[in-house]
Amino acid sequence: MENCFDGKKLAEEIKSSLREKIIALQRDYGRVPCLNVLLVGDDYGSQRYAASCEKNAAAVGLTCRVVRMSGESTEEEVLEQVRALNEDKEVDGILIQMPLPKHISQAKVVATLCPAKDVDGVTDANVAQLWKHKRNDYSRYCVPCTSRSAMRILESAGIELDGKNAVVVGRSNIVGLPVTKLLMNANATVTIAHSHTRDMQAILRRADIIVAAIGQPKFITEDMISDGAVVIDVGINNDPETGKMCGDVDFEHVAPKCKIITPVPGGVGPLTICSLMENTIDCFRRCAL
Ligand code: NDP
Repeated sequence: MENCFDGKKLAEEIKSSLREKIIALQRDYGRVPCLNVLLVGDDYGSQRYAASCEKNAAAVGLTCRVVRMSGESTEEEVLEQVRALNEDKEVDGILIQMPLPKHISQAKVVATLCPAKDVDGVTDANVAQLWKHKRNDYSRYCVPCTSRSAMRILESAGIELDGKNAVVVGRSNIVGLPVTKLLMNANATVTIAHSHTRDMQAILRRADIIVAAIGQPKFITEDMISDGAVVIDVGINNDPETGKMCGDVDFEHVAPKCKIITPVPGGVGPLTICSLMENTIDCFRRCAL
């Protein structure tokens, strides 16, 4: 399908440019950037993501270490590990895999993380930077990887954002809100919809661009969108009918109406690790300068 955005292809292109950037950094600074993934417990999705980080980092020549801690670790042990990574001069970026085991406060762990190494833009300092700046300049501070990926897709697909109506469905700190701000910085007029939104159909039908970050399988249906809409589907769900992975958008029926649509899998997902590696390189550069 011509309007189906190929996230895997773009990810391969980004990785080949990252390979060259990393060779240049090794030449100029005598070492390559190092990402550290902190994995506490045995959450299946987190383990798979960490393994994927290792594989992709190896493919571009970036160092990636995964620190694995038992799910029985105490909160203080996890905080101590974060402090040690903050201090480690060889570590440029730290990704703390969520969810953490329930007895560990996510807020405390995030508050302990050094903002300069916060590759997923979750610390208060990075959130404040994002909301303060009126331009999208990723070299200055880290934004959450998925929101950077969504913007990359729009840019790569040549979608004009200035003056367009965008609707973001979902208002989480990790996807909905940061992508809203990045779209606003690009001069789109953005509506944020959520679980209390009334008449979702009327709101979505006015949208030139829709970003779905809901976590509900096939929530957005054909009748909700207008012809020629651009649809970025961030959702990762299990299709209750087939048991396969699916997005928040009913792809089969929505796609024929779209100018561009991202599939799940194969759309936003492959780019998230690319954004993570780009954020790690940006942290490295900011420290090196
Ligand atoms: P959250 O659960 O934190 O947020 C979901 C948002 O969707 C909330 O704002 C919620 O509204 C809204 N919502 C839920 N149900 C409805 C509904 N029926 N109608 C309207 N709005 C609704 O999820 P995340 O933001 O963390 O993730 C969203 C999706 O994106 C998930 O499927 C997740 O797996 C996926 N994801 C994908 C990533 C990738 O790289 N591809 C990375 C991160 C997440 P309210 O605020 O009112 O509760």
